[in-house]
Amino acid sequence: MSDKKNATIAVRGGINTDKHHGAVVAPIHLSSTYSLKGLNDKRQFDYSRTGNPTRSTFGQAIADLEKGAVGVVTSTGMAAVHLICQLLSVNDTIVIPHDCYGGSYRLFTHLAKRGQFKLIIVDQDDEQALQQALDQKPKLVLIETPSNPLLRIVDISKICQKSHQAGALVAVDNTFLSPILQQPLTLGADIVFHSTTKYINGHSDVVGGVLVTKDVAIGEELAWWANCIGITGSAFDSYLALRGLKTLPVRIKQHQANADQVAAFLQENTAIEKVYYPGFITHPNHNVAKKQQESAGGMLSFEIKGGIAAVEKLFANLTLFTLAQSLGGVESLISHPSTMTHASMEHSAQIEAGITESLVRISVGIEDIDDIIADLAQGLVASQRQ
Ligand code: PLP
Repeated sequence: MSDKKNATIAVRGGINTDKHHGAVVAPIHLSSTYSLKGLNDKRQFDYSRTGNPTRSTFGQAIADLEKGAVGVVTSTGMAAVHLICQLLSVNDTIVIPHDCYGGSYRLFTHLAKRGQFKLIIVDQDDEQALQQALDQKPKLVLIETPSNPLLRIVDISKICQKSHQAGALVAVDNTFLSPILQQPLTLGADIVFHSTTKYINGHSDVVGGVLVTKDVAIGEELAWWANCIGITGSAFDSYLALRGLKTLPVRIKQHQANADQVAAFLQENTAIEKVYYPGFITHPNHNVAKKQQESAGGMLSFEIKGGIAAVEKLFANLTLFTLAQSLGGVESLISHPSTMTHASMEHSAQIEAGITESLVRISVGIEDIDDIIADLAQGLVASQRQ
């Protein structure tokens, strides 16, 4: 494990690792296969699905940032989520939050319907409901904090403690913050995972995932499954994500500075009913966020006055923001969770999770803050026109 600070680890990932030519930046190894030195005399890598130097460098960099033992790089964030399911057998139970990312919700509910494991969906901030779920002796508890799209915060240390007491492992989706702002393994979690499609790559040109384990044996088991199923990330995507990683600490600083200002602006805007942002002192779990996060993060969501008609007018009038799924790229994106990222959740599940048709989610980019706010200001005025 590296003893360097995270801003250093992010920049230095793969630097000076090329022994042959002294390339400063880690080379990209596209070869699908590697020669053996002789019969039964393998090198470190033999076949790229199993292991690839570029992917390995990227996985190690994320493992170092997350303070874990093993990093497994997957082809998508959902592949990382699915990989965790390999730890579960038919009679095992997994507990997930009622307001997790729609794709994760879809995967868990559909696999449970097919009988691959037992599923309990709870509001993890409801201590009684969580305890009832833990009384069922689950094998795994999945946490997503801040949650997508409502930026709810749960106490990672507390849930880890209770889950471990119940004999469960804990896996945390850290996509919304990145290891620069939160390191769940240091708070007691066993596994942390990311959609690297988001902040880690940061340029909206890679779809990828990664998971990091605290324990070597669990990491090796998951790496074994990743190879077995064939969901390891490509060399090219690993190269791009490693490249993106180098600027993650500075990007996050700018995302954060801009998000703070956007949140304050929205809070005062008369077209807005409610803003969800963990940086507000009035956020129900602001103190937990303060304890476990470096800062609030670059994501926020809000309820607009005027329902779906106002949402439509807002989107039609924005010129800087792009209406698109995803988040964490340098560009500002806006989305409508109930018809986009969370469309795969049934209407009743959306309502239970608090996802209404008036809810809008923003991934605050790193453009000039004046331009971001000017665009939102004119879009919100247009949203309230009859
Ligand atoms: N986890 C969270 C919080 C997400 O927002 C997403 C995608 O939006 C995923 C996981 C899945 O990642 P991917 O789209 O890379 O498969």
